[in-house]
Amino acid sequence: MITSFITHQDCALHDMGPWHPENPLRLNAITDQLMLSGLMNQLMQYKARPVTEEQLHRAHPKAHVRSLQLSLPEEGFTAIEEETLLAPRSLEAAELAAGGVIRGVDQIFKNQADNVFCAVRPPGHHAEKVESMGFCFYNNVAIGALHALEQHGLDRVAIVDFDVHHGNGTVDVFRDDPRVLVCSSFQHPFYPWRYADHQGDNIINTPLEAHTGSKDFRKTIEASWLPAIQQFKPQLILISAGFDAHREDPMGELNLEDDDYYWITSFLMDLARTYTGGHLVSVLEGGYDLNSLARSVHRHIEALQGL
Ligand SMILES: [Zn+2]
Repeated sequence: MITSFITHQDCALHDMGPWHPENPLRLNAITDQLMLSGLMNQLMQYKARPVTEEQLHRAHPKAHVRSLQLSLPEEGFTAIEEETLLAPRSLEAAELAAGGVIRGVDQIFKNQADNVFCAVRPPGHHAEKVESMGFCFYNNVAIGALHALEQHGLDRVAIVDFDVHHGNGTVDVFRDDPRVLVCSSFQHPFYPWRYADHQGDNIINTPLEAHTGSKDFRKTIEASWLPAIQQFKPQLILISAGFDAHREDPMGELNLEDDDYYWITSFLMDLARTYTGGHLVSVLEGGYDLNSLARSVHRHIEALQGL
């Protein structure tokens, strides 16, 4: 299995301060773990390229992008909300994060990779069409899905999201777009307090009670996502891969273990083999405890590799 690993050192240009859990050390922890374990040697490594305006505007209207650009501070921070801050070069990082997913999708269609992991930040799944929130500015996974549909001519893309938080931004982008199936599991009730009750043929919301552990997580995911994906028959699967539902993560109260990330990735790989020729692009979302983040991504990539 050829797995591509896409990242960029300039994702660190977005830095909301060392106190902030969504900080550049997250990507360092992931790459350090993969290097030390030797797994990185088995991956094809690429640098993200910035998203183009055309690719970005498929998900976010021009006026919204422009207003974000105008909000960039010359120094210090602009608070979009209390903990979602723009630093002077934050949008350069956000352009690379979205562009990394574009590159991953392109690699799939050029047969350069079977699957892809995008180690990028800032994350994206809370970013709605015209609203930045929850540490997210541009919806990276949505931009990747729209690229697959509009550039590569696909008819059906599935986005699955196992972050501890609901992917409200992704639901916002695709709630009226039957070309995209969005399956999101999340602690409930919990941040972001939006769209969790949204009903739609193409939106599968999978709420989980606080303290849900491995066994109930797996059972619920299988019951909720499997029939939806089987019926939808996606031509490509994208993953909003958040690792903050881990037991050791301070951000949420779900109790997943390292092995649950291996399990869910293998579950999605099986579906990819059936429907997408094995093609799957995974995009980092949350995950704030550096230790469990690094271990969980490691298990995730082992599953992508078919190990
Ligand atoms: Zn999250």
